[in-house]
Amino acid sequence: MAYSCTHCDAQFQSATSVTQHVGLHHDTCAACDERFGDTDSLREHIHQSH
Ligand SMILES: [Zn+2]
Ligand SMILES: [Zn+2]
Repeated sequence: MAYSCTHCDAQFQSATSVTQHVGLHHDTCAACDERFGDTDSLREHIHQSH
């Protein structure tokens, strides 16, 4: 079963891969869908909020 990115048509073999893709390519938190201007802000948010 494939995991799909909710922001584009990309598909992945694991949920972890989707999370990494979303963070890298969309700067968006996969857990709460909040969007950030840069990867550092996103990474900080994930550490603090999830
Ligand atoms: Zn995507
Ligand atoms: Zn979040």
